[in-house]
Amino acid sequence: MSLTEIRSRIAAAEKAAGRPEGSVTLIAVSKVQPLDRVEAVLEAGHRVFGENYVQEATGKWPALRDRFGPVELHMIGPLQTNKAKVAVDLFDAIHTLDRPSLAEKLARLAEARGSCPALFVQVNTGEEPQKAGVMPSDTDGFIRDCRALGLPLAGVMCIPPEEGDSRPHFAMLAQIAERNGLTGLSMGMSGDFEAAIAAGATHVRVGSAIFGARNYG
Ligand SMILES: *Cc1c(COP(=O)(O)O)cnc(C)c1O
Repeated sequence: MSLTEIRSRIAAAEKAAGRPEGSVTLIAVSKVQPLDRVEAVLEAGHRVFGENYVQEATGKWPALRDRFGPVELHMIGPLQTNKAKVAVDLFDAIHTLDRPSLAEKLARLAEARGSCPALFVQVNTGEEPQKAGVMPSDTDGFIRDCRALGLPLAGVMCIPPEEGDSRPHFAMLAQIAERNGLTGLSMGMSGDFEAAIAAGATHVRVGSAIFGARNYG
């Protein structure tokens, strides 16, 4: 478990970018990790986690919250509309708002409960057909539609293509946020979080560099 090392690398990257210490939130991505590794990170005092699957998260986090107290949970995986209610009850933030049907569903749920998780619009910066996210050219319009529904947008999120340089994608996402008056930038994973911080990331999503490799067996 190298939470300490990741924290110090984040602090160094903040400093190198001339950004205030603590301006980047570290989301420890615990999907598919064995419980003992997650407990070790909780015992080390970390309280911000990310999950990809609603079902896995509901099976895991209510009990961990009972034991460890308040934990800020971020949904970072694709969200099916029929799981939106469970997600809204469990998560403090959803990073994968990527289509009108989900926006409408979240708006109805938020209205009914009088609160809503912080929402990030996922942008498919690499325009990859197999990947979720709003196309860059559709993003401004989608953000406008979400705001018209009264949704509390916190920012934008991207997952750059696996191959190649992430930096142009981070720069594009930062521009999209800026021109839409959004401050949250969810970008950067184990392999590229320092570059993301240099480009302005406010939330980095780091899994394997903290917990070790995921075993999907
Ligand atoms: C799994 C995942 C991460 C963490 O990936 P690592 O490479 O293990 O740091 C970050 N973001 C998203 C959207 C993920 O699905």
